Amino acid sequence: MSQKFFLYARKSTDVEDKQVLSIEAQLDELRDYAKREAIEISAEYVEKQSAKIPGRPIFNKMLDEIEKLGGSILAWHPDRLARNSVDGGRVIYLLDTEKLATLKFPTFWCDSTSQGKFMLNMAFGQSKYYVDSLSENTKRGMRQKVRRGEYPGLTPVGYINDSRTKTIAVDKKSAPVILKAFEMYSEGNQTLDTIGMFLAQNNLFAKNGKKIHRTRATFILSNPFYYGHFRFNKEVYEGKHEPIVDKRLWDKVQEVMKERGRPRHKMKNEPQAYCGLLSCATCGMMITGEYKVKTQLNGTQHFYTYYRCTKKRRDMKCPEPCIRQESLDEQISSLLQKVSMPQDWADYLNMRLEKDKTESAQSVQIFVSENEKKIQDIVVKLQRLLDGYLDQDIEKEIYRSEKSKLLSEKKSLETEISRSEGKQKLWLEPMQKWINKAQNMEKIALDTDLFCKKVCAKEIFGSNLLLQNKLVRASAPEFLNPPAKQMQTAWASLCDAHSFVSSQQKSRVLEPMDRIELSTLALRKRCSTN
Ligand SMILES: [Zn+2]
Repeated sequence: MSQKFFLYARKSTDVEDKQVLSIEAQLDELRDYAKREAIEISAEYVEKQSAKIPGRPIFNKMLDEIEKLGGSILAWHPDRLARNSVDGGRVIYLLDTEKLATLKFPTFWCDSTSQGKFMLNMAFGQSKYYVDSLSENTKRGMRQKVRRGEYPGLTPVGYINDSRTKTIAVDKKSAPVILKAFEMYSEGNQTLDTIGMFLAQNNLFAKNGKKIHRTRATFILSNPFYYGHFRFNKEVYEGKHEPIVDKRLWDKVQEVMKERGRPRHKMKNEPQAYCGLLSCATCGMMITGEYKVKTQLNGTQHFYTYYRCTKKRRDMKCPEPCIRQESLDEQISSLLQKVSMPQDWADYLNMRLEKDKTESAQSVQIFVSENEKKIQDIVVKLQRLLDGYLDQDIEKEIYRSEKSKLLSEKKSLETEISRSEGKQKLWLEPMQKWINKAQNMEKIALDTDLFCKKVCAKEIFGSNLLLQNKLVRASAPEFLNPPAKQMQTAWASLCDAHSFVSSQQKSRVLEPMDRIELSTLALRKRCSTN
């Protein structure tokens, strides 16, 4: 029976085909074999592609031909036809449907009998197994390498794979350029684009020969390989290779990258110093801060921080405008200045405090010694009571009830003593601290540390600061227009004293001071009521 014979030869550059005859050798052997077996070859198909996965065009073309018109195949070994289950299955199905008449292999026997097909199936299965176990072995080998601290892949720029010693060596040409790139970027005034440009100037290009792009520059600058570790399967391992970059420099670069990356992407969400301090007077929502970059046509960039109402109310559209950080800061600083304490006031208060301390210490001393005397009396009474009871002058019942009364009295007196001693600490110490803080407020108000100002403003005004039409005010009325009524907090009284000063002759107020006296009275009142 004469039939069309197709010759198929294949070899890939992949590992699984390493031991296989070259295509030329396969062709020579197959042609010889055909001659010996009196086989007439009607077409030769040659392919340089792996058979690990389906989709070889020349192989598919040959099978399509066979499917249409029938034919037979001559190949060196079944593994030339298929190393995957799809292609192997297709060949066997063509045999089953008798489209494929015969398969001939110089190295392998099979025919169209059930036994032949079984053998063929085995051969395909073996080729697939070979590929599978090979990739498993490769993976295992890689893992072993990783464990030994050897990076299993191609080294990044700056290093070379020394094929002779199978180690990774520092590339003397490119390594200093990489180091310089790290140093330049760590200073914080370079962009990733300029780093890419610098690398190009020093003959370091991307694989396609083009200038190193910003993403590639990011990859280089954030690769732990350069300080001696390496990433493999998303995990970092300690490497054996020589570092190019010091770990501290590498860390610095990561910081800069994080810092510089922020404005471009996340700046909007970055909380600003005064966020969460004020609320909108019109709709009651919080005031939030936003960082904005304005780029001019000539490339100059301007950076602004704005504060605005979050406008989260659904039932109304808040019309409040936004305010520049400079303007907001100015107003908050002036509010803080209003509750700052001038040196002479502080001196006076401290003097009063010392006096109060002494007076209170004296009165405490008197109180304590009075009570101690009472306790002493009780102790004497208790002794007499016991004597009377022992002499049988006093009934047991009376003795017991009298004793219990005296003991209870003694306990109360003892408690009074320890309480009065603790009491003066309770209001003297917070008062002392408060004076210091108030004295410092001027300095804080004039400083540029916005966060510190926010903390102070929060303590003084609580959540009472409102923003309306770009103006900051405190919602508690006593801060606005201190009436001649009792002041609620020490800060309020201080603010009150300030406004009194501005409306009166300074000299009068700073004299023995009925007004300051009043406010200190209020202060003392606040501090002494726990
Ligand atoms: Zn609002």
